[in-house]
Amino acid sequence: MGYIDLHLHTTASDGVMTPSEIVRYAKAKGLQAIAITDHDTIEGLEEGLSEGKRIDFEVIPGIEISAEHSPGSMHLLGFFINTHHPLLNERLGYLQRARAERNPKMVEKLNRLGINVTYEEVLKASGGGQVGRPHFAEVLVEKGYARSFQEAFDRFLKKGAPAYEEKFRFTAKESIHFINEAKGVAVLAHPNTLNMKGYSELENLILHLAKEGLKGIEVYYPEHSAVEVAQYKTLAERYGLLVTGGTDYHGIEKNGLDIGIGRGEMKLPYSIVESLKAARS
Ligand SMILES: [Zn+2]
Ligand SMILES: [Zn+2]
Repeated sequence: MGYIDLHLHTTASDGVMTPSEIVRYAKAKGLQAIAITDHDTIEGLEEGLSEGKRIDFEVIPGIEISAEHSPGSMHLLGFFINTHHPLLNERLGYLQRARAERNPKMVEKLNRLGINVTYEEVLKASGGGQVGRPHFAEVLVEKGYARSFQEAFDRFLKKGAPAYEEKFRFTAKESIHFINEAKGVAVLAHPNTLNMKGYSELENLILHLAKEGLKGIEVYYPEHSAVEVAQYKTLAERYGLLVTGGTDYHGIEKNGLDIGIGRGEMKLPYSIVESLKAARS
């Protein structure tokens, strides 16, 4: 039995492999199943699923929703979503429009700072996929306005910086609701990015999300420490939540991170997929 990876991005959001490429790559790496979980979009799923069918490899239709949260960021994964569900499509359409309106506003802000950047340049950097701040950073570095991605974010693009524009997000409750409505299984992604003050605050949040219909926690994740993994596992057990995991692989080597194995430590059994399937029905 091969391993699984339930958190992957493609060119439909900010990954660099097309959905077909990542499916073929996963199979070549000996994995047994993957989930494609692009940010706020299901655009890559049809291609990924049909490539999976073609080469006889299991692909789970998924999504990763950015929900309203402060001070950190909250991402919610939805597994086995019905991509044709009207409410899901209506909500994702709203998020896409909000994103499309945000980007020209950020160009305007940069221009007002005396930075000569056009929306066409940012669009080009995105390679035809979803446009996001990393593409702004790419253009800023390319044109010499910043020396690195980090500097571009720190000086212009990060929350609170002069070219930052707030992005609309649904609340966690709303996000869990439309994932559930679309027959998906809602899972809290990488809890370590929530930046909760302490364990009890995190526990309260998870209890609250579970009441709203959350079904699982992404316990296994390359950026989680051993202590965090143990904590999240305990919380999952305490509140009857499923345990999932994934690498958040974006199709590029990042500090030795690869699909399925992370940095060598991730060996997630197929039984996780079976639990998700059981939770769905
Ligand atoms: Zn995420
Ligand atoms: Zn992700």
